[in-house]
Parts: sequence; C-alpha cells; structure tokens
Amino acid sequence: MSQTITVIKGDGVGPDIVNSALQILDKAGCDFSYDFAEAGQCSLQSQGAFLPDETMALIAKNKVTLKGPLTFPDKQTQHEVNVLLNRRFEFYAKLRAVMSFKSTKARYDDIDIIAIRDCEMKSIEQLVTFAYELARQEGRKTVTAVHTNDMEKLNQSEFIDITKQVANLYPDIESNEIQISHCCMQLVLNPNQFDVLVGVGQEGEIISDLCSGLVGGLGMVPGASVGKDNVIFEAVHGSAPSLAGKNLANPTSVILASIQMLEYLNMGEKARQIRKALQETIESGENTTRDLGGQQGTSDFTEAVIKRL
Ligand code: NAD
Repeated sequence: MSQTITVIKGDGVGPDIVNSALQILDKAGCDFSYDFAEAGQCSLQSQGAFLPDETMALIAKNKVTLKGPLTFPDKQTQHEVNVLLNRRFEFYAKLRAVMSFKSTKARYDDIDIIAIRDCEMKSIEQLVTFAYELARQEGRKTVTAVHTNDMEKLNQSEFIDITKQVANLYPDIESNEIQISHCCMQLVLNPNQFDVLVGVGQEGEIISDLCSGLVGGLGMVPGASVGKDNVIFEAVHGSAPSLAGKNLANPTSVILASIQMLEYLNMGEKARQIRKALQETIESGENTTRDLGGQQGTSDFTEAVIKRL
C-alpha cells in the first residue's frame, strides 16, 4: 500500500516549489498518495483560520507532512502558529541539514552539517538523545553541544548536564562542547570540523541560521520539525510574495526537505537518486534560477532535475 503524505502547499511561492518537489518525487517513482491541506493566508481567506481543524486532522492522520512556506501578517502570528504545531504534535527538535553545492554562493565547497535545536524547550533529554540517535543512524562521527557560559540563562546548565549524561550512552560517537561565540568563529573559519551541532534556546537558533548562511542562505536548506510520531518536512525560507506564481522561485529547499522525508521513510535509494540529480543540476549551473546566478525558471530547473534522474 502506498504511503500517504499530507501536503501543505502554503502561500506565495509555496505552490510553485511544492509542485516542483511533487513532480520530482512522482517521476522518481516514489508511489506516494497525497492528502492536500491548506494553511496560512490562503486558508485564512477560504476557511477563516491559519491552521484549520481539517489540516490539523490530516497532519495527525498521516504523520508525515511536506510543507511550503506560509505568509504571516506579523511575527506574533508566525510564533503562535509554530507554538500551536509544536504543542499539538509534541515536536521536540527542529533540524536543518546544511550541505554546500559547488558553483553556488556557499562559502565552502564541502560543508555537511546537521544543526539541531529545541522546539520551545520541550524535553532537553529527548532533544539530545535525538541528536545522538541521528548521528548514529547517519554514520556521523561527532556531536557538539553548543552552549553559553552564562549559567543564569534559562536551561543552559541543565542542557550541559544532560548532554554529558546522554553522551556516556553513545561511546561510538565523539562528544564535544563549545561556547556559542567560539562556535560562531570556528564555523566561519573552519566549518568542516563540525558534524552534528545541538543547542537550545537562542544558541540553537544562532547555529541554525549561521550554518544556513554558510551555504548560501535559507533557499538552500531544508527543515524538519520532529515529534515522537509526527514529522513535518519543510522549506525554511518565507513565502517570497513578490516571486509568487512567476515561475522564478528556487525550489531547492523543499526538494531537499522531500529528500529528508524519503530518508525518514527508509527510502534511501530514491533519496540518493534525487539528491544526485539535484546536485548535478545545481552544479552544472545551466538550468538554475536567478538567485543561484542562472537565468531559468522553476519549471526549467525542475525539468532539468527530472531529466537527470
Ligand atoms: P522570504 O524568505 O520570503 O524572502 C527573503 C528574500 O529571499 C526575498 O528576496 C525573496 O525573494 C527571496 N527568496 C525566498 N525564497 C526564495 C526562493 N525559493 N527562490 C528565490 N528567492 C527566494 O522572507 P520575508 O520576505 O521576510 O517573508 C515573506 C513572508 O514569508 C512573510 O509573510 C513571512 O511572515 C513569511 N515567512 C514564512 C516562513 C515559513 O512559513 N516557514 C518563514 C519565514 C517567513
């Protein structure tokens, strides 16, 4: 029986880039069924809510969601929507898999870092255990806990204590800790020394954004919100309203999110195929979108990935 995925195309460029990812998944023979759900500005207009009950029910039912960006009227609404999702689906970790592609604005050619942060300070133990489990699954060598020496800061001493306890359970993984300011400098000078980074609160946010900046920005990075039995894979950039419907958006972030989704669903071979086709397309520089220095549209880029599958 084929796996059903909840798909939220979202607002602005969301439908353009999510359609691109779905075409690639289908052409790669992933055999998914999709339950389409609305969220954001579009559902506010059509159903009177940013996160309608029907959408929440579909996220709960299928347990795996692929999501485009939403348009928010302000930061407060964005925060409230994130909190609602975090609480309802008990998300405890947000992860960004940050990988550089040659011929892009990435500052280094060979960055491959997973940055993990908490979702509103839910269980720190769950967060850190997740970081180590992911490191083990992916055959990664090191987990580095990023903290501040300001022990009066909420949860920092608890984070450090728990990290040490969890690290003892994973002797096969090297464990390091580093202060946030030093980590920022080292990320800029020599990012290849890092493998999996984990942080809580503001420290977690700083490493996530800094790592994304190293590989050319949010357009090149996929995101995921992870709970016990529910995961949302998503583009991490915004809805870029000025590009919406113009066939100009770069779909890389959501294609990479769909690759992570395949890995999560134990469809590693399909994930490898699509990643290779995407990488070759970006690195050829021939069919890329304007933000990547190319001249092509979302649809040409998508076709070029499909041709290479
Ligand atoms: P944005 O990420 O939408 O845009 C920032 C810049 O990046 C713009 O120049 C935009 O054109 C460009 N850009 C973004 N995505 C691109 C893509 N796929 N291809 C090419 N260029 C791209 O950020 P913003 O302008 O601050 O926010 C726009 C809207 O998105 C706001 O309503 C904001 O609330 C919302 N937002 C949503 C999310 C989310 O749903 N995850 C995250 C951030 C912002």
